[in-house]
Amino acid sequence: MKPPRTIQISLPATGEEEWQAVREPLMTGWLTQGPKVAAFEKAFAERHQVKHALAATSCTTALHLILAAMDIGPGDEVIVPAFTWVATANVVLYCGATPVLADVDRSSFNLDPQDVARKVGPRTKAIIAVHLFGLCADIDAIRAAAPGIPIVEDAACAAGSGYRGKPAGALGTAAAFSFHPRKSITTGEGGMVTTDDGALAERCNQLRNHGASISEEQRHHGPRPYLLPEFNLLGFNYRMTDLQGAVGLVQLKRLDEFIDERQRWADFYRAELSAIPWLRMPSTPAGSRHGWQSFVCYVDPDRAPMPRNALMEKLQERGISTRPGTHAVHMLGYYRDRFGYSPDDLPGARDCDRHSMSIPLHNRMSEADYGYIVDALKEMA
Ligand SMILES: *Cc1c(COP(=O)(O)O)cnc(C)c1O
Repeated sequence: MKPPRTIQISLPATGEEEWQAVREPLMTGWLTQGPKVAAFEKAFAERHQVKHALAATSCTTALHLILAAMDIGPGDEVIVPAFTWVATANVVLYCGATPVLADVDRSSFNLDPQDVARKVGPRTKAIIAVHLFGLCADIDAIRAAAPGIPIVEDAACAAGSGYRGKPAGALGTAAAFSFHPRKSITTGEGGMVTTDDGALAERCNQLRNHGASISEEQRHHGPRPYLLPEFNLLGFNYRMTDLQGAVGLVQLKRLDEFIDERQRWADFYRAELSAIPWLRMPSTPAGSRHGWQSFVCYVDPDRAPMPRNALMEKLQERGISTRPGTHAVHMLGYYRDRFGYSPDDLPGARDCDRHSMSIPLHNRMSEADYGYIVDALKEMA
């Protein structure tokens, strides 16, 4: 039987304004990285209180740029949480370095600073702190656990999030954001590096453009047309298009509105669902501004009336999409086979992989959608 309504786990909130925004690049013919990307970067840097923002093709490539610009390579270790999207660990391997997985806290889903302290060694060159689902990692505790080690923020889910009065993206040496449609604001695919470090920014700038030491834009507008760029670094093509930059500018303008709306419905979920003893609500520590990229609950295996997967199937039958929060990297085939991990090596990540459940929270849901989800979950209880 067809359910009375279907609610997707996520839907990007794009529309007329984004549609109009792509007209100008299409009509002028300036399609690749140019004035729209520059304007998007400037606005993004201002919103996240950093000196530099550099657009890239994704958060994955933004992270790769940062690690490459930090000269991380073979023989180096980078600490990465074991419960995160696989890209966070993959970028370390792209550099020929070794990802060292640290466990996560089951209530915040973020890095456990005590395990970070245990995993730091003489080869540790950086820590990638993930702000999972929009909640900032406890940066102060991580810094205290690993004094002097640079922190790179994986802020894929954390556009507009905050920690102790500072925005995500301004908490470490550098940060990487995502504009994939599953995130709070989108450009289709896309990413952004933020940093206050001018030299690091300049290296990222060159690396994203084949290692060229002057930009395409300078080449087109500069007074010396005979100048070709210098290529002194092994770079990549990780440039964002101006079509995406134009969309990003519109989306960024709407970011705080998106988060405020998500916050209201997160409060509604919490008010309606916290009486269910086996469904743990996402944690919101004092001093944090949650960006609510996802609303991720934890299904207590000892108290729930059925296993998480059975619950997810029942919700799907009713037209409600859910997903596991994300995956445990050490339980994925490539990492398991290459590094010989077993699930119990990182028990926090293992449990989050098995028991986390994301329920729909995005900017294209109606009041009736939220009510329907709450009623369905109460009936399961
Ligand atoms: C989505 C996500 C990424 C990857 O972002 P892309 O823009 O798709 O490359 C990386 N890390 C985390 C934590 C993510 O959620």
